[in-house]
Amino acid sequence: MICVPVMEATRKQTLQAIEKCARSADAIELRMDLMVDEDVAQLIAVARQTSANLKIIVTCRRKEESLIVRSGSIEEQKKTLTNAAKMALFRQAALAGADFIDIELAEGSRSIQEIKSFCRKHKSSTRIIVSWHDVFKTPSLVRLKEIFQACAQTGADIVKIVPYARSSADNLRVLKLIDYARQQGRDIIAMCMGEEGKISRVLALSRGSYVGFAVGTGGLSSAPGQLTIREMSQYQQLLQGHKRSSNHCYSSAEAQNFVLLGNPVRQSLSPLMHNTALEAMRIPGSYSAFCVSDLAAAIAGIRGMNIRGASVTIPFKTAVMEYLDEIDEDATALGAVNTIVNKAGRLFGYNTDWVGLMQALKDETDIAGKEFVVLGAGGAARAAAYGIIKEGGRPIIVNRTREKGQALAKHFDCPFYPLAQIGKIKAAGLINTTSVGMYPDINQSLAPPSAIAHYRIVVDVIYNPLKTKLLRDAEAKGCKILAGLEMFVRQGAAQLKLWTGREAPLELMKKTVRERLLNIES
Ligand code: NAP
Repeated sequence: MICVPVMEATRKQTLQAIEKCARSADAIELRMDLMVDEDVAQLIAVARQTSANLKIIVTCRRKEESLIVRSGSIEEQKKTLTNAAKMALFRQAALAGADFIDIELAEGSRSIQEIKSFCRKHKSSTRIIVSWHDVFKTPSLVRLKEIFQACAQTGADIVKIVPYARSSADNLRVLKLIDYARQQGRDIIAMCMGEEGKISRVLALSRGSYVGFAVGTGGLSSAPGQLTIREMSQYQQLLQGHKRSSNHCYSSAEAQNFVLLGNPVRQSLSPLMHNTALEAMRIPGSYSAFCVSDLAAAIAGIRGMNIRGASVTIPFKTAVMEYLDEIDEDATALGAVNTIVNKAGRLFGYNTDWVGLMQALKDETDIAGKEFVVLGAGGAARAAAYGIIKEGGRPIIVNRTREKGQALAKHFDCPFYPLAQIGKIKAAGLINTTSVGMYPDINQSLAPPSAIAHYRIVVDVIYNPLKTKLLRDAEAKGCKILAGLEMFVRQGAAQLKLWTGREAPLELMKKTVRERLLNIES
């Protein structure tokens, strides 16, 4: 059962959210602690009118057990209700026909008993979920079992345990707890919060967790790490399909899911870009970002769950290569993989960073026979230098750290200059591949304006902000400019081509990412 939390601030938004959730989710969770002066009985009545089958959970979280995410940031909970006010609210919910009341173990077994006997007395079929959350960490399995027993002993119909994951091992402990509860014939809801806990949200349902929670309407999450309802449904479908067939041969009508592996990934716009494209291409599937600390486990997850493809970002582009079955010629020569394609269980590595950058650059200028300064010596610099050579041009490496710059120049057999000498170089173009100038440090640039005038074209691989200080300075000097967004969408489109064999809607992807970036900037 997939549940969407309803926690909108205004009455109008709450009613709209209930209607929307009723169309897509199995259940809603009315977060009464986050609503202003709402009448729980009326909300339950509205939900029942909207859909007779929709399950309704009513809860009123304590501040200590709550983490709300709005626009990517954790938000402080604003309202605290006394125990007496909560009990009154739960009694109303039971009388109004809520399917479940979720009461925290910390409210005390007396309160839990009180609401249970109230339900019995009024012949209410409401079931009681006794919950426990840790917003900081995941305890040991022994401790999790103790907490489970403490919840169960209150007479809970369902036990809910949700700690915060800091590593992939934390997810494993919670999944083992689900097995433990199921072996005792108990219903349990369990998963981990946090970016590291995302994988548990996918796997917990297939292991028998009673409910999974998805992101609410308007992108509001009742806990960090929640996936969208579309993502949850697609993964569920995929895992069920996987169970049905040990050969896992999927027809094209089945879900094709993709992931981003990196650390950090919270700010990534790849999920927005790829999900927009998948929807426009009518491909049943989704793309989700996973913050990875154990790369080997993440790769095993791709194989085990038959994830069709993955993007790889900082810091794994080189490290991932040893886990793949085959790596294409360009990615091998470049020494970095940013794309994985899963072909019937064999993982193939590619690099579309250089493809995206060269496609964008070729739209603006000739490359063959020309020199381009590549500022930086990291993964993006490798992609730029490799692409320029492949297109018949010549890179000149400029870097802060001499040893890294010299090593890259040696690898590509091209000249190296220390950063201090940037003003002395003459070339057709300058490509910044460092992260200097990226949001939030948007007023930084490594190239002084006096050094920029030498170049006919100045490129920045950074896409947030849309126009970096380097590009603003270059424009003021009359240079042609090329923003990182152009590379970003093209490398993404090349990934989609590798994963699906089809052309991606480049203009739509660009428009979507640009709009999101403009929103962030305003
Ligand atoms: P990386 O491997 O960590 O390399 C970073 C480079 O930046 C290094 O050469 C480093 O110099 C240099 N650098 C960092 N801070 C510096 C500073 N304060 N002063 C001077 N140099 C500095 O990172 P990467 O993978 O190449 O990524 C770099 C950027 O490219 C990121 O902003 C990333 O988002 C962007 N990118 C964009 C796209 C796209 O599609 N548009 C694709 C890939 C990457 P040292 O060697 O001296 O440490």
